Amino acid sequence: MEIIFNIKEDNMNVKIIAAVIIAVIVTLGAISSTFANEVVVYSARKEHLIKPLFDLYARETGTQIRYITGKAGLLMQRINAEGSRTRADILLTVDAGNLWHAADEGLLQPVKSRVLETNIPSHLRDPENRWFGLSVRARTIVFNTDRVSPKELSTYEDLGNPKWKGRLILRTSKKVYNQSLTAMFIVEHGLSKTEDIIRSWVHNLSTEPFSSDTKVLEAIAAGQGDVGIINTYYFGRLMKKKPGLPLALFWPDQDGNGVHVNISGAGVTTYARHRDEAIKLLEWLSTPAGQTIFADSNMEYPVHSNAELHPIVKSWGSFKQNLINVSASGELQAEAIKLMDRAGYR
Ligand code: FE
Repeated sequence: MEIIFNIKEDNMNVKIIAAVIIAVIVTLGAISSTFANEVVVYSARKEHLIKPLFDLYARETGTQIRYITGKAGLLMQRINAEGSRTRADILLTVDAGNLWHAADEGLLQPVKSRVLETNIPSHLRDPENRWFGLSVRARTIVFNTDRVSPKELSTYEDLGNPKWKGRLILRTSKKVYNQSLTAMFIVEHGLSKTEDIIRSWVHNLSTEPFSSDTKVLEAIAAGQGDVGIINTYYFGRLMKKKPGLPLALFWPDQDGNGVHVNISGAGVTTYARHRDEAIKLLEWLSTPAGQTIFADSNMEYPVHSNAELHPIVKSWGSFKQNLINVSASGELQAEAIKLMDRAGYR
């Protein structure tokens, strides 16, 4: 954008002031003014998943919610760059690994709330109360129903058994979901056993890892491999579009520590201008009413045990979830990335 000023004397100060004004206008852009009854959310969760919820909240409480959406990393960079001038009251994103980094960089502040502590199980929130899980995403096993019987499946570890040689399909290790899963394995099994598990998976791969969970599902449905690991909402989405696909979910480790879960969640920013309103919004999102819509919109699991499950999600049956605190996925992320590299998982 180029703006020309017709100022005869070449007055440096005027130019600087003009530049500052333009910078401020550009920065504020979409979020122009601030009202007492508003909350500003920077969301890595897509607009169609949050808008219905925010509209309902505005109708019920009179509090307006302004939001921008974008990639988690970019939103975090933006909050960092804006510092104390940020308009963001809440950072909403997926994966505890991302939330952990936001907290680690000082972008989020601790919130003491009885409501949040009561509604959200402790393994799904930051031990230091800087972020809170608002939906649960289960990372579980999927299999081709024409080629595999669920009786053949048992644990994550067992996917490294030689019987699955040339039959396993995985998403790339570059995705935070798999980094988080590996980090949680490190807590569960220790470094050396986790490395053995990941290496045994790599030996069993039928093809190079795919770029998305959906591609993993499609490849298994097409018989390019027989088993894989995915987040269940991708299974839900694909089966809605193509109900005839020969795919089913399996809940591993039910005699052990349970299915690995992660979260989408949120925290109040360090420089929030509407701190109290932001906490109220998080509290509302954690109630059964907020939870049902939040989780249902993406076919995820609610964090609140009294919230209704989406009928399709309910049809997948219940499972025991692993209770390791999801913050491990951030704390051990760097370790997990190195481990996956050593094990040859690309
Ligand atoms: Fe996802």
